[in-house]
Amino acid sequence: MAITGECFCKSVQYKIDGLLRDARSCHCSRCRKAFSSQASSYALVNADEFKWLQGEELLTSYESQPDFGLCFCSLCGSTLCGTYQGEVHGVTLGCINGDPQIEIGYHLFVGSKASWEVIPDGIKTYIEGPPKN
Ligand SMILES: [Zn+2]
Ligand SMILES: [Zn+2]
Repeated sequence: MAITGECFCKSVQYKIDGLLRDARSCHCSRCRKAFSSQASSYALVNADEFKWLQGEELLTSYESQPDFGLCFCSLCGSTLCGTYQGEVHGVTLGCINGDPQIEIGYHLFVGSKASWEVIPDGIKTYIEGPPKN
Protein backbone atom coordinates (compact mmCIF):
# COMPACT_ATOMS: atom_id res chain seq x y z
CA MET A 1 0.00 0.00 0.00
CA ALA A 2 1.33 3.42 -0.90
CA ILE A 3 2.47 5.83 1.78
CA THR A 4 0.62 9.14 1.52
CA GLY A 5 1.29 12.56 2.93
CA GLU A 6 -0.25 16.00 2.96
CA CYS A 7 0.27 19.46 4.38
CA PHE A 8 -1.69 20.93 7.30
CA CYS A 9 -4.34 22.53 5.03
CA LYS A 10 -4.50 19.38 2.84
CA SER A 11 -4.04 21.39 -0.35
CA VAL A 12 -0.80 19.61 -1.22
CA GLN A 13 -0.85 15.81 -1.26
CA TYR A 14 1.57 13.13 -2.38
CA LYS A 15 2.03 9.39 -2.45
CA ILE A 16 5.04 7.12 -2.38
CA ASP A 17 4.93 3.76 -4.13
CA GLY A 18 7.82 2.34 -2.17
CA LEU A 19 9.45 2.38 1.21
CA LEU A 20 11.09 5.17 3.10
CA ARG A 21 14.74 4.76 4.05
CA ASP A 22 17.16 6.06 6.64
CA ALA A 23 14.78 7.97 8.92
CA ARG A 24 16.65 10.38 11.13
CA SER A 25 16.16 13.36 13.36
CA CYS A 26 18.62 16.25 13.45
CA HIS A 27 18.72 18.54 16.46
CA CYS A 28 21.02 21.25 15.05
CA SER A 29 20.04 24.91 15.16
CA ARG A 30 19.45 25.03 11.40
CA CYS A 31 17.05 22.08 11.40
CA ARG A 32 15.20 23.46 14.40
CA LYS A 33 14.37 26.58 12.41
CA ALA A 34 13.70 24.77 9.13
CA PHE A 35 11.26 22.41 10.83
CA SER A 36 9.94 24.90 13.46
CA SER A 37 10.49 22.21 16.03
CA GLN A 38 13.01 20.69 18.45
CA ALA A 39 14.46 18.65 15.58
CA SER A 40 13.91 17.53 12.04
CA SER A 41 12.17 14.23 11.30
CA TYR A 42 13.08 13.16 7.81
CA ALA A 43 13.42 10.00 5.73
CA LEU A 44 14.82 9.35 2.28
CA VAL A 45 12.69 8.37 -0.67
CA ASN A 46 13.42 7.19 -4.19
CA ALA A 47 12.52 10.08 -6.46
CA ASP A 48 10.93 7.81 -9.06
CA GLU A 49 8.57 6.36 -6.42
CA PHE A 50 7.36 9.78 -5.28
CA LYS A 51 4.37 11.46 -6.92
CA TRP A 52 2.49 14.68 -6.19
CA LEU A 53 -1.26 13.99 -6.20
CA GLN A 54 -2.41 17.57 -5.97
CA GLY A 55 -1.29 21.07 -5.09
CA GLU A 56 2.22 20.90 -6.53
CA GLU A 57 1.69 24.40 -7.92
CA LEU A 58 1.24 25.70 -4.36
CA LEU A 59 4.71 24.60 -3.32
CA THR A 60 7.37 27.13 -2.57
CA SER A 61 10.98 26.10 -2.26
CA TYR A 62 13.78 27.49 -0.15
CA GLU A 63 17.37 26.54 -0.82
CA SER A 64 19.38 26.92 2.36
CA GLN A 65 22.51 25.85 0.50
CA PRO A 66 23.17 25.21 -3.18
CA ASP A 67 21.36 22.11 -4.50
CA PHE A 68 19.51 21.43 -1.21
CA GLY A 69 15.95 22.74 -1.01
CA LEU A 70 12.97 22.43 1.27
CA CYS A 71 9.48 22.57 -0.25
CA PHE A 72 6.61 23.94 1.74
CA CYS A 73 2.95 24.74 1.18
CA SER A 74 2.53 28.44 0.42
CA LEU A 75 -0.92 28.41 2.07
CA CYS A 76 -0.27 26.74 5.43
CA GLY A 77 3.52 26.58 5.68
CA SER A 78 3.96 22.83 6.22
CA THR A 79 7.32 21.60 5.00
CA LEU A 80 6.67 18.49 2.91
CA CYS A 81 9.89 17.39 1.32
CA GLY A 82 13.53 18.05 0.76
CA THR A 83 15.04 18.25 -2.69
CA TYR A 84 18.52 17.70 -4.03
CA GLN A 85 19.31 19.27 -7.40
CA GLY A 86 15.59 19.79 -7.97
CA GLU A 87 14.56 16.16 -7.35
CA VAL A 88 12.64 14.97 -4.31
CA HIS A 89 15.23 13.54 -1.94
CA GLY A 90 13.21 12.84 1.22
CA VAL A 91 10.04 13.66 3.10
CA THR A 92 9.24 15.14 6.49
CA LEU A 93 7.74 12.42 8.67
CA GLY A 94 5.28 14.86 10.27
CA CYS A 95 3.31 15.25 7.03
CA ILE A 96 2.82 11.54 6.44
CA ASN A 97 -0.68 10.15 6.97
CA GLY A 98 -0.79 7.18 9.32
CA ASP A 99 2.12 4.80 9.71
CA PRO A 100 5.19 5.63 7.58
CA GLN A 101 6.37 2.03 8.09
CA ILE A 102 9.67 3.23 9.47
CA GLU A 103 10.98 4.52 12.78
CA ILE A 104 13.63 7.15 13.38
CA GLY A 105 16.87 5.22 13.52
CA TYR A 106 19.22 7.84 14.95
CA HIS A 107 19.44 11.37 16.27
CA LEU A 108 22.08 13.79 14.97
CA PHE A 109 23.71 16.85 16.49
CA VAL A 110 22.26 16.26 19.93
CA GLY A 111 25.33 18.17 21.16
CA SER A 112 23.68 21.36 19.88
CA LYS A 113 20.11 20.58 20.86
CA ALA A 114 17.87 23.33 22.24
CA SER A 115 18.25 24.01 25.96
CA TRP A 116 14.57 23.23 26.40
CA GLU A 117 14.64 19.82 24.79
CA VAL A 118 14.97 16.66 26.88
CA ILE A 119 16.51 13.78 24.92
CA PRO A 120 15.08 10.47 26.11
CA ASP A 121 17.30 7.60 27.20
CA GLY A 122 17.66 4.53 25.05
CA ILE A 123 17.82 6.16 21.63
CA LYS A 124 20.78 6.16 19.26
CA THR A 125 22.41 9.57 19.30
CA TYR A 126 25.41 11.30 17.77
CA ILE A 127 26.94 14.43 19.28
CA GLU A 128 27.51 15.66 15.74
CA GLY A 129 26.93 13.89 12.48
CA PRO A 130 26.00 12.46 10.17
CA PRO A 131 27.79 9.10 10.45
CA LYS A 132 29.86 8.33 7.38
CA ASN A 133 28.32 5.75 5.11
ZN1 LIG B 1 -1.04 23.52 3.02
ZN1 LIG C 1 20.37 19.61 11.25
